[in-house]
Amino acid sequence: MPEGNTTAHHVKELKGVGPKVSESLSLLGIKTVQDAVFHLPYRYEDRTKLTALGEAPYEIPLLIEGEIIKSTVVFRGRRMLFTEIYDGTGRLTMRMFNFAFAQHKALKKGSRIRCYGTIRHGPSGKEMIHPQYQVFERTDSVEVDKSLTPVYASTSKLQQGRLRKIISGAISYCEANNLFKEERTKESDDEFSDIFQALKFIHNPPADIDLNVLLSGNHPAQKKLIKEELIAHMLCAGILKNELEGREGPIMRTKSSKEGLFLKSLDFQLTNAQNRCWDEICNDLTAQSPMRRLLQGDVGSGKTLVGALAALHTADNDWQTAFMCPTEILAEQHHQTLSEWFSPLDLKVAILTGSTTASKRKKIVSELEEGVIDILVGTHALFQKDVIFNRLGLTIIDEQHRFGVHQRFSMLEKGGSKKRSPHQLIMTATPIPRTLAMTVYGSLETSIIDELPPGRKPVTTSSRPSSMRDKVMKRIEEVCLEGQRVYWVCTLIEESEELEAQSAEELFLDIKKSVPNIKTGLVHGRLKKKEKDKVINEFREGEIQLLVCTTVIEVGVDVPEATLMIIENPERLGLSQLHQLRGRVGRKADSDSHCLLLYKDPLTAIAQERIKTMEETNDGFVIAEKDLELRGSGDIYGVRQSGLMDLKIADPIRDSDLLEFAQEEAIRIAKTDEPFAKILVDRWVGTKVDYSES
Ligand code: ADP
Ligand code: MG
Repeated sequence: MPEGNTTAHHVKELKGVGPKVSESLSLLGIKTVQDAVFHLPYRYEDRTKLTALGEAPYEIPLLIEGEIIKSTVVFRGRRMLFTEIYDGTGRLTMRMFNFAFAQHKALKKGSRIRCYGTIRHGPSGKEMIHPQYQVFERTDSVEVDKSLTPVYASTSKLQQGRLRKIISGAISYCEANNLFKEERTKESDDEFSDIFQALKFIHNPPADIDLNVLLSGNHPAQKKLIKEELIAHMLCAGILKNELEGREGPIMRTKSSKEGLFLKSLDFQLTNAQNRCWDEICNDLTAQSPMRRLLQGDVGSGKTLVGALAALHTADNDWQTAFMCPTEILAEQHHQTLSEWFSPLDLKVAILTGSTTASKRKKIVSELEEGVIDILVGTHALFQKDVIFNRLGLTIIDEQHRFGVHQRFSMLEKGGSKKRSPHQLIMTATPIPRTLAMTVYGSLETSIIDELPPGRKPVTTSSRPSSMRDKVMKRIEEVCLEGQRVYWVCTLIEESEELEAQSAEELFLDIKKSVPNIKTGLVHGRLKKKEKDKVINEFREGEIQLLVCTTVIEVGVDVPEATLMIIENPERLGLSQLHQLRGRVGRKADSDSHCLLLYKDPLTAIAQERIKTMEETNDGFVIAEKDLELRGSGDIYGVRQSGLMDLKIADPIRDSDLLEFAQEEAIRIAKTDEPFAKILVDRWVGTKVDYSES
């Protein structure tokens, strides 16, 4: 193996990485040492200084330390552990739902405790829910960290601490083995023109760094990596474009009577915008080259129907459609809708997700390969190797922002060959600036549904502080008794699905208690599919009137009868996410719908501005613009977290000033240095990703 070849070193060469850990790492896309050092932190924790409780702000992660005054287990619908802490300037309660007896025992009165977490308003003043903590004796002297703590995307099987060690081991490994050596530019004085120096810095920023510089993505080390990543994605888009150039798409010239029958069977007419978009798509389908089209339209604009028309046309021409959804709930919903629409027309619609049983899966896979299935709706499960289409003609990707470049590639490979490639339709409610779509995706045409179905009244939005919760509950009770259906969305704890689910459960019990005569249900990400299904169906049927849910409901769930949505702690979400959520109501013609933002005082200036924007406008494009404008400080991970693109560090909107440079560089590198182009693509985008696990 040539020295410096970074791709050839398997993670197993690192200390502490055995078969088990290596398997967990591969779930994160980390197979080589290089993958490990390019697994970049998505945020940092600052445990380099202590904050006095007396002046500790809310809603900002911080490190506190104090003496344990009391630690008690209480019962409030469920077991909880309350630990009271005092640091000479103020008090704080640490609250836990999930704890072992030994944990309780270790929280001895008089011991010192250090907690890292976010302070919230609790029933008895300042509290932290499930913070990371460390208990020590009063006499121990424990130093604070010397550098910021990186936080990485991980899986439940791999703890942060472990992953941190592995990555830092990978960095030492690169150093010892002189990897990246050939790339070190000597002519420049700037230390971060060296990719490896930039990487080292990013994984381990010193304590004295200005966190704001890091948060705004303006540090030279970040800039170096951002530029490289953008270049890599552009190279990749270029490669994709070249690959596809000259390929043929399935030609679909037949237009049967089914389209007319289908449209007649609907109890509404297409909007002009839907008609126009369908025309544009239909033109692409009948042309010789494969379609690459983005269908953009605000929530509720009726994208599904346009996608369905494309699938119907595809089936009419004897080709199959893959309908990809980001979540199981959404897949099930689309499956149901499409089945209702198309079974009278003798089309076979099936669904495949991670929770499809083995026997059903077997049947579907074989029917798919035989060509019996016309439309297969599903989640990431569709990427699995043994899922083989007989004649894949069209891939529809709904709410595309959840899928990355890999998946787009992988779906093209699935139905294609060197000569042919299926059509691709990407549906999204997130407006993607055209320049961005062009540079990062290669060529992509856009159709826009810029009109909502008639009779739709805009969702009115208002906000109340959570101190008015009791009043709100009363109002909800009335509304439910009138027969309306209500979503109650809680956004309690970010980052951990498990904790979020727990808090949702707690909230659910709370709500049930305050409105005992209303039928109430609960869904969150941790429920089994069967349970989730059951609850959502009951809500759809009206057997449940009040649905308590986490943001799992955000993407695409469609229950037209729901007319009221309460969003608790809206200050925790970005504008676009709030708008998406709100789009779950107001889906029925001629009914008034309302969204109530139940916020926690005091709000930051940005949160105030967001809430004001929500109250003032319903226009998805205005919202998207405002979102970008407000994102600026402190919330830079928005785009990446929402997964607009599968990027590790670049934020194409924040970093839009670099796009042009990156584009020029990509063209130059593609022309003059093909091996380097390969290195970059391999490093940032990867080529082979195994989805069989997802
Ligand atoms: P989105 O664009 O957010 O995916 P959907 O496709 O889920 O929106 O459509 C929202 C709702 O509007 C669905 O219940 C759908 O059946 C309905 N709908 C779609 N097109 C029309 C139309 N032209 N007239 C009336 N209702 C429509
Ligand atoms: Mg949709």
